[in-house]
Amino acid sequence: MLRVALTGGIGSGKTAVSDYLETLGVTVLDADRYAHQVTARGQDAVTEIATLLGPAVIDADGHLDRAAVRELVFTDPQKRAALESIVHPRVRHEMNKAASQATGPYVIFSIPLLIETGQAGKFDRVVVVEAARQLRAERVLERSGLDQQAFSSIDHAQASDADRRNAATDLLNNDGSLESLHAQIDALHERLTTLSREQAKTADH
Ligand code: ATP
Repeated sequence: MLRVALTGGIGSGKTAVSDYLETLGVTVLDADRYAHQVTARGQDAVTEIATLLGPAVIDADGHLDRAAVRELVFTDPQKRAALESIVHPRVRHEMNKAASQATGPYVIFSIPLLIETGQAGKFDRVVVVEAARQLRAERVLERSGLDQQAFSSIDHAQASDADRRNAATDLLNNDGSLESLHAQIDALHERLTTLSREQAKTADH
């Protein structure tokens, strides 16, 4: 089965792409969702994170205080790397497990920080969804309580458009309407389905 990564900057339309792919019957695995799952109450990663960052990051009910964690690692690259070495291998393990049970011609791994975490080379295809920065800002500000400053600080901390584009095998442009995005995804779906068949044939020989 073809392993396809999906990534893009903040507010680029990753969720819009994933949602539409799901209506086409494609399995989409969301790294953010798995990151939540492996750090849910009672998971051993939570104990390891508390050992790294201190017991104050766990609340009275045993839940991880995600805002406290973000704040503690924001200005401390070493702690951030240590946190990632706890969370990322578990996320990869769970996603690979889910992918091995998926049906269909290909499976999508939606990974917002694909480029930043150096994982692009691990996939058969890398789909990048792009939208102009100003549009991304407007869409995110409209959707959430985030302000322009919070958007900018997240945007700056992420890979550049050029870095993402360099890693891309397939580009989706989301500067236009959702209809235009969906039409591009229909074409992408056909390409990936064909590629997957070709890969399966090669594997048979
Ligand atoms: P994040 O990085 O914050 O997780 P994302 O990349 O998943 O965001 P979406 O949530 O898909 O991006 O899109 C951001 C917002 O813009 C959403 O409210 C979405 O409904 C809206 N949006 C996405 N694409 C379009 C479009 N083509 N036209 C209008 N609105 C759009």
